[in-house]
Amino acid sequence: MTDTAVLPVTDAPATVPAALEARAVSAWFGGHQVLSRVSLTMPAGRVTALIGPSGCGKSTFLRTLNRMHELIPGAAFGGEVLFEGEDVYAPERRLTDARRRIGMVFQKPNPFPAMSIYDNVVAGLKLTGVRASRREKDELVEESLTRAGLWKEVRDRLRRPGGALSGGQQQRLCIARALAVRPRVLLMDEPCSALDPTSTRRVEETIQDLRDQITIVIVTHNMQQAARVSDQCAFFLAEQGTPGGIVEHGPTEQMFNSPADERTADYVAGRF
Ligand code: ADP
Ligand code: MG
Repeated sequence: MTDTAVLPVTDAPATVPAALEARAVSAWFGGHQVLSRVSLTMPAGRVTALIGPSGCGKSTFLRTLNRMHELIPGAAFGGEVLFEGEDVYAPERRLTDARRRIGMVFQKPNPFPAMSIYDNVVAGLKLTGVRASRREKDELVEESLTRAGLWKEVRDRLRRPGGALSGGQQQRLCIARALAVRPRVLLMDEPCSALDPTSTRRVEETIQDLRDQITIVIVTHNMQQAARVSDQCAFFLAEQGTPGGIVEHGPTEQMFNSPADERTADYVAGRF
């Protein structure tokens, strides 16, 4: 079982971002096509925001990038995803390898509530089959919590349960858990939509701090957030009866100030 192979954690420096490229990515659920030939380059060390109305395939697209899509029964995939030029879907490639290098954070903070803060971070290693010594774990816990902007708040209570933290802290704990394996890409699916404005700001600060060290792809419904944190935006749309696709993508400043497509202009201005 190559998927459960144990990998060393020390082979990658903490801060080398990687480029990700989707080529003609399509996706289906039970024969129903929800994405059609989506191509997008997500440059190394940059923040790409995926925007667009609900149901247009943003989350599905995100899940195709690290092969989480194929975990869903009945789901099918077409196209290519290249990580540093290598096919993420190549048959000889290990699934855990893709998921270790391409981490994910979800909308609802989902730490293991009864597990300690320390163990929650370490769980990131276990989930992707990475082995580490006690000392490496201690170092990774501090490193990951620091990168997630949570270390100062929790350093004295690492044995407290993850569930005792506030919602915003729990989300940063989930970011730390994802960072524990030193991924080179971080996928974030509406990471702030369950958070209050102050916690949202803290997560945005964390994203800013990670910029340059890691490649980030973030789905957000918050246009101010997309404008604040992203370098480029891709506007997704699924028009009546058609699968989702990208209408337009480009530098964030251009997407907000001089979009080429009227539908983009209407969407970023909040008209639908
Ligand atoms: P978004 O994140 O942009 O809101 P999604 O990727 O969640 O969009 O959904 C895209 C389409 O795929 C929608 O029509 C949705 O109903 C459908 N879909 C999403 N997840 C599933 C699933 N697990 N099973 C069947 N259909 C799904
Ligand atoms: Mg979604």
